[in-house]
Amino acid sequence: MDFSKLKNKIYLKNKFISSRNANIHVLNHSLHFATSVFEGIRVYNSKPLFLIDHIERLFLSAKLMGHDFPMKSERIQKIIIKLIKINNIKDGYIRPIIFRSADSMSPETSLCKSILAIAIWKWGKLFSKDSGVKLDISKFPKLNKKIYPIQAKSSGSYQTSVISRIDSRRKKYDDCLMLDLKGNIAESSACNIFWIKKNILFTTKEHSILNGITRKAVIKIAKKKGILIKIGDYNLKDFYKADSIFLTGTAAEIQPIKKVLNKNFNVNCELINFFKSQYEKLKISCPDKVSKI
Ligand code: PMP
Repeated sequence: MDFSKLKNKIYLKNKFISSRNANIHVLNHSLHFATSVFEGIRVYNSKPLFLIDHIERLFLSAKLMGHDFPMKSERIQKIIIKLIKINNIKDGYIRPIIFRSADSMSPETSLCKSILAIAIWKWGKLFSKDSGVKLDISKFPKLNKKIYPIQAKSSGSYQTSVISRIDSRRKKYDDCLMLDLKGNIAESSACNIFWIKKNILFTTKEHSILNGITRKAVIKIAKKKGILIKIGDYNLKDFYKADSIFLTGTAAEIQPIKKVLNKNFNVNCELINFFKSQYEKLKISCPDKVSKI
């Protein structure tokens, strides 16, 4: 899909404008220096899921990338609700982005303004593979908090994800697993990762991942249900002992993994099916915060 040909209205600089007019200059600072920050929010039955958490993460990302962005959460919530309405979106995806204007062509940003744009479009499944996806292992590690503010959902943090994914697709995998700087499991190119061994749920610590909102929801559901969960640093050897693996993310939802390199995993696992069914319920109730689950 060519997103520049979207027919929808886009919010840009305090206006709801036609998508074809939502343009920026080639000398835009963020295009050159990669400090834009953005979000991906799902809309189910015209309601956004975890809207407040996404806006809070957008603010955190903006702060970490040095944006001076004084807008209030309530204002962004209203804009998003209006976008869903005027574009008549039932099931879709919302992409808010804060980027810097073209007022500097060096890393100096004092003259740049931080601009908010919000686009929306109809969207179904990301992988469309209920039978599970195949993961390669990226040759690039994920950075960690000590060398990059990895908690920010920023354009810069996606560089290694994008080139790793290009490599994996060339090798006929769907996506890739990325390890941290010590060779422990981190996440996939754009999802968090969980695995199950003997009914114990495992996932990684937060130092080298984007702390996903879907991840938080899965952890909360697991704790409420009394499922034993271990959050730690695990190497590939530990990870390969898993019975089942799944990815979590706003776009991917709960996505089982059928293969990592040549090793097969069970995609029809009771616990994964449990999380999937719980997620389906969330898609109906659409809470605005994980804390309300
Ligand atoms: N990690 C990365 C690198 C991502 O891009 C995403 C998608 N936002 C996630 C994890 C999952 O986060 P969330 O559940 O908030 O979508």
